[in-house]
Amino acid sequence: MLNIKELSLKELEELLVSWGEKRFHAAQIFSWIYQRGAQDFSQMSNLSLALRKKLEERLQFSSLNLAANLKSSDGTEKFLFSLADNNFIEAVSIPMQKRLTGCVSSQAGCKFACSFCASGVAGFRRNLSAAEIIDQALFLNNHSHGKLTHLVFMGTGEPLDNYENVLKAIRIINSPQSLNIGARRITISTSGIIPAIRQLEKEGLQIELSVSLHAADNRTRDSIMPINKKYPLQELIAACKNYIQATNRQVTFEYILIKGLNSDLQNALNLGKILKRMNCKVNLIPANPVEELKIFPPEKKEIVAFKTSLLKSGINATLRKSRGEDIHAACGQLRLKYEKS
Ligand code: SAH
Repeated sequence: MLNIKELSLKELEELLVSWGEKRFHAAQIFSWIYQRGAQDFSQMSNLSLALRKKLEERLQFSSLNLAANLKSSDGTEKFLFSLADNNFIEAVSIPMQKRLTGCVSSQAGCKFACSFCASGVAGFRRNLSAAEIIDQALFLNNHSHGKLTHLVFMGTGEPLDNYENVLKAIRIINSPQSLNIGARRITISTSGIIPAIRQLEKEGLQIELSVSLHAADNRTRDSIMPINKKYPLQELIAACKNYIQATNRQVTFEYILIKGLNSDLQNALNLGKILKRMNCKVNLIPANPVEELKIFPPEKKEIVAFKTSLLKSGINATLRKSRGEDIHAACGQLRLKYEKS
């Protein structure tokens, strides 16, 4: 059965008309779901009982089952959901001054097996549907009484490996009658799927692109991100340059600083070289320790030296403050903990 949350406003209008109903009910239904937090059709009290019954019989109104919920001392909140087929996914809400950023998953598990990331440890299960992606954003918005302002695809999975569903979800989340989160406030984070980056630049959406770089040469990147063997660094950087040109948007590069691996001065200099004169920003992230993977952040001194070197090369670099460490909010860690128990 088709899920109501898989439908754009226009598609819902067309569906209602095909049922012999009035088009304008679609906007009412959208408002109930996305602005008033309705949990089922029976709550939609300005629709006739007959229409509510029709909707109930013909459309699914899924939502996520909350399996666990942890709140950090810094206000970051993490939610673990169980899906209809007993897979788990996680989403995080991160308050920052006037912003509230939701971090959502795009897949149950991950195929890409980056050596520092907890999400890939238990392998890949399946793509999330657009409804399952929307449901995470909707949950975070309802939970915060409508305060969600930004959305990042930095939960479990590779969003550009689930392209159709992610884009469908973004278009719905983006629409004014839905959650109305502007494309510029939505970030897709990718390990670097080049053909999908090329496709994304043609969508006519100003989505923020964030690329998980984590290394400044192929040898290092090959050793921590297997995807680099398929889509090597130079080609990835070239695709990013095209994206910047086509969309007139800055690209952000994520760079996890991992002790003993990519965090010395030579790496900083190499990074400065390959990003020279690009309209980009580097987000430095001291690695979140993952016991299972023997991943640790470098000393504070090395982190600061890395950043200083980038600034000297003329690269706009910021150091990301880690959030929610006390609740395993980082990168698939809660899910991993649950799957083990
Ligand atoms: N697959 C996408 C999106 C999910 S990961 C991607 O690779 O970008 C979201 C971010 O978390 C990525 O930048 C990823 O590299 C980072 N991440 C994964 N494990 C981490 C760890 N142990 N410490 C810090 N960041 C980590």
